[in-house]
Amino acid sequence: MRRFEKRWPRSKHLKQKLKRIAFLLEKKYGSPKRGKHGDPLETLIQTILSQNTHDLNRDQAYTRLRRRFPRWEDLLQAKKGAILSSIRPAGLGRQKSRTIQEALRWILKREGCLSLSFLKEMGSEEIERVLREIKGVGPKTVHCVLLFGLQREAFPVDTHILRIGKRVGFIPVRLGADLAHRWMKPLVPEGKSFSLHLNLIQFGRTVCKARNPGCLDCLLAEECLYPPK
Ligand code: SF4
Repeated sequence: MRRFEKRWPRSKHLKQKLKRIAFLLEKKYGSPKRGKHGDPLETLIQTILSQNTHDLNRDQAYTRLRRRFPRWEDLLQAKKGAILSSIRPAGLGRQKSRTIQEALRWILKREGCLSLSFLKEMGSEEIERVLREIKGVGPKTVHCVLLFGLQREAFPVDTHILRIGKRVGFIPVRLGADLAHRWMKPLVPEGKSFSLHLNLIQFGRTVCKARNPGCLDCLLAEECLYPPK
């Protein structure tokens, strides 16, 4: 941990910068409210399906998967081909079906049943450590389970957030997506992880797009380092 801090020192102004960004985005997009309940296992499978695809494709794949395998036990026993055809809309079928069955196998072996409810009794750091034992599950997936499945303070860094962070200057340009989770942890304003995460994604989809970002009429222009001014 200390080596990381030494290599990637955070300036004391960054926390303030993030606060201003969270405020400006809430002013524009509002303060999204959390749902009351989430199921960590459903969130885990949905997040595995969401890799490298859009929400619509993920949702379609998840609905098809649950329609075909309403019980997790059946999904665990299912033939690869049957899973592959169910989750086709999400793409990367081989990799995703392998990770899904890997995760279910791991849960069953650890808990003796197919549920992630045991996570509710754990602290967030322990959950991070435990879920990373599942092959194919990385920091973004773990943070999604924490944020959406367990209603914890956690900040998943997706491609939109990574891109915006590097342009605006709250994530170092040379930092990869996995390490960016560790980087962001102390910077996200308290109680704002849910709204900042969702609002940055909306901002990335509509304004700060990968190509042709709308810099001329941007609410974060004053905070932004891109293009170098
Ligand atoms: S000024 Fe341009 S690059 Fe910077 S946040 Fe706005 S849209 Fe993105």
